Amino acid sequence: MATQEGKDLTNYRKSRPNKHEHLMNRAKVVAERSTCLRRKVGAIIVDKDGVVLSSGYSGAPRKMKHCLEIGDCLRTSLGIPSGERYELCRSVHAEQNAIINAARTGATIVGGEMHISSEKVKNAYSDGDGNDKVYGPCIICKKEIINAGLEMVYLKEDGVTERRYTLEQIKRLLIQEEAKWRKNLRRNKIIP
Ligand SMILES: [Zn+2]
Ligand SMILES: [Zn+2]
Repeated sequence: MATQEGKDLTNYRKSRPNKHEHLMNRAKVVAERSTCLRRKVGAIIVDKDGVVLSSGYSGAPRKMKHCLEIGDCLRTSLGIPSGERYELCRSVHAEQNAIINAARTGATIVGGEMHISSEKVKNAYSDGDGNDKVYGPCIICKKEIINAGLEMVYLKEDGVTERRYTLEQIKRLLIQEEAKWRKNLRRNKIIP
C-alpha cells in the first residue's frame, strides 16, 4: 500500500502486465491484422531479453488479395478440416511471416522465442466435430520454427489456454503428427 503524494498505487501495480503477458498482448495486437477466414493469428519473435525482433500475421503474400478481401478461401469453401491441405489457401501463416520478416530486415532470430496469439473468427467455418481445435502451430510451421533456430514457442488460443513448447516438444509433436497421418492413411487403405 505504498503511496506517492497520498495516492494508492496498488491497483496500478496489479494492472501492470508482466513482461510475458505484455508480449502475449503484443502478439494479439498483431493478430488483429490477420485476414484468415477461420482464425486470427499473430506471432512475434523476441530475443532472450524480450526485445521484439520480428512480427507477422496470417495473410496473403504481399500485394496479393487476401482471403478476407476476396470473401472466400478454397480451403474453407471445400470444408477442409484443420491441419490439412494448406496449399489450397493462399495465406502465409503468422509464424511463417514472422520468420520471413526477420529475413527481410536481417534480424537474427536464432535462439529467439515466438509468442503466438490465435483466436477463432466469430461465426467462422467450423468442421463441427472439434477438429478445428488447433494444437500448436501447424505441421509446416513446426518445421520452419525448428529450422529458424527458435528455442521456445508460447501460444495463446482463444484468449484462454496458453501453452509453452520447447524446441524438443515441437520436434516430438511433429513426429506424432506424422504418425497420426500414417495411421489415417493405413485406416483408409491408401497405404499398406
Ligand atoms: Zn484462406
Ligand atoms: Zn502454420
